[in-house]
Amino acid sequence: MSDTLQELKDYLDQMNIYGRAAELLFWDMRTIMPKNGFEKHAQASTFFSTEVFKMSTSDKLEKIIDELMKPEEYEKLDDMWKYVVKKMKKEFVLDKRIPTDFYEEYVQASTESEAAWEEAKNAKDFSIFAPHLEKMIEYTKKMMQYREPDKEIYDALLNQYEEGMDSETIDRLFTELKNELVPLVKKIIAAPQPDDSKFEGKYDINAQRQVQKLLLEYIGFDFDSGTVGETEHPFTMGFSSKDVRVTNHFYENESINAMFSAIHEGGHAIFEQNINPDYDGTVAASLDFMGIHESQSRFYENILGRNKNFWIPIYDKIVELLPKYKEISLDEFYKEINHVRNSFIRTEADEVTYCLHIIIRYEIEKAIFREGVSVDKLPELWNKKMEEYLGIVPENDAEGILQDMHWSDGSFGYFPTYLLGSIYDGMFLDTMREELGDIDKLLADGQIKKITKWLNEKIHKYGATRRPKEIIKAVCGKEVSAEPLMRYFTEKYTKIYEL
Ligand SMILES: [Zn+2]
Repeated sequence: MSDTLQELKDYLDQMNIYGRAAELLFWDMRTIMPKNGFEKHAQASTFFSTEVFKMSTSDKLEKIIDELMKPEEYEKLDDMWKYVVKKMKKEFVLDKRIPTDFYEEYVQASTESEAAWEEAKNAKDFSIFAPHLEKMIEYTKKMMQYREPDKEIYDALLNQYEEGMDSETIDRLFTELKNELVPLVKKIIAAPQPDDSKFEGKYDINAQRQVQKLLLEYIGFDFDSGTVGETEHPFTMGFSSKDVRVTNHFYENESINAMFSAIHEGGHAIFEQNINPDYDGTVAASLDFMGIHESQSRFYENILGRNKNFWIPIYDKIVELLPKYKEISLDEFYKEINHVRNSFIRTEADEVTYCLHIIIRYEIEKAIFREGVSVDKLPELWNKKMEEYLGIVPENDAEGILQDMHWSDGSFGYFPTYLLGSIYDGMFLDTMREELGDIDKLLADGQIKKITKWLNEKIHKYGATRRPKEIIKAVCGKEVSAEPLMRYFTEKYTKIYEL
């Protein structure tokens, strides 16, 4: 190994020590820290994050990277280090384009905007948030003009969260889907609906924790390289492939949400646990393709978890842990977990209407950045689209345009990645069937680990070294298409609802 590469490795090791401390503080603050511990924890967390930031933008690091980019040095690197060096160089170039005072202003504006959003949501009053939203749109435009001056702004935003994706591709995919999905949803909603009153009751929280453990082990989460915590909003956090943590939130009067959160976050975690361990501590392991990441959590949650056969090998154990389920047959459970409702809130939506919630947000983002629609017109536009696609109009903005926090901190272009994840899943399912045979049968026979192994080999182990379109091409041998997902919806829900 060259001296310069050794120098880079040592440098990253040092940086990761600070990084680990910052992340551990973050985890602690979100999970078990008592309220009064906040101040000192926040102080320590800022210290370590600042150290990481300083080290990741230092002249010393840039010099090492530039040295390794020289042809004679670069040729000697293996594929992973080639990827790492190139990616770090690219990030240096992008970051250097943003003036420091503008960046500080941006951070300040987004902190104020998040607070205003929360206040507006609680007061159900969009006008409190509107001036901040306007400011965030302007700042985001400016940020993108600095970062990627050659790209159209909205495409630059999309590219940030799903590299290589642009609105031309997304338009094609979402339109393909929307045209068939809107009539399908109308048909489903008009059909007789399952009776969910059987599910009302109390579910012991400790028993639900055991159900979570059972589900995570069942799908292949490795408890030697992972652990669980509890938070208001579930998330996954990876320190490295050897330490990946998921959180959940349990409700006494409800048991299904927590099961599906466990499976969803478990899917994210299985991805991170199975990245090639040689990538640990480098950008080759930092998964910043949100659509691909979401495709894995959603594959477990929806494609597998909402399949009846997934539950056959474990349903008796669920009944044992949650006695309320003695009155509920697997058939009734299956219908309930696939109950399609035209509801207002994205995060509570079923897998079918969820797509429409995302399409609405995507179309509004385009209206903002492409058509220059003014902020005061947005609630009206939101409600109009809700009526058109889901047949309902929110009573107030808290259950309409104010429900998500994404736009308050400038995360424009993030929403589409959720749906891209599901679209990829339709394609992965097709290919998996060709290569592994009948997926229903595998699940019913308790062979879900074979599915996990397939995903490990085809997707997970590569970490961030392949871009989304390359992954789809390599795994499925085709261009991205929404047809497989639409076919999956039509077949599945025609049966469930006897359409
Ligand atoms: Zn997710």
